Amino acid sequence: MTEAYDPNNIFAKIIRGEIPCHKVFEDDDTLAFMDIMPQGNGHVLVLPKGEARNILDATPEQLAAVIATVQRIAKAVKAAFAADGVFVQQFNEAPAGQTVFHLHFHVIPRFEGVGLRGHTGQMADHGLLAEHAAKIRTALGG
Ligand code: AMP
Repeated sequence: MTEAYDPNNIFAKIIRGEIPCHKVFEDDDTLAFMDIMPQGNGHVLVLPKGEARNILDATPEQLAAVIATVQRIAKAVKAAFAADGVFVQQFNEAPAGQTVFHLHFHVIPRFEGVGLRGHTGQMADHGLLAEHAAKIRTALGG
């Protein structure tokens, strides 16, 4: 059985503006911001704004909105970082690796011959995250 949604999870607080983030994109239904422990340069998280714990309880409408933004961000990070490819990753429940229980997709630029850092590894420098967010916003035309 899927667990209940906790409205006090950290991403719900970011969506409500109670906690800051390095935002790269927002529309009525979705939000995208830099992961603070990036697995690679340009690692972005894409979320629906509405309540959904993960893919197991999300509505088709939330999924449609979020995947459209995932595609938009994937194209932008590929262009911004001149990446060779883009990795899209998503976890459902703790045994599958989920640590924040508001649905999100990881969008990570990949480069030939360059490995990823660990999932929820080291905190990145905020200046660098701000720089990367600005690059991605430019690629988005913002
Ligand atoms: P997961 O739930 O396993 O997909 O991972 C949650 C992701 O959120 C991890 O990659 C964390 O580095 C990231 N994260 C946790 N807290 C924050 C935050 N306040 N701002 C941005 N990213 C975060």
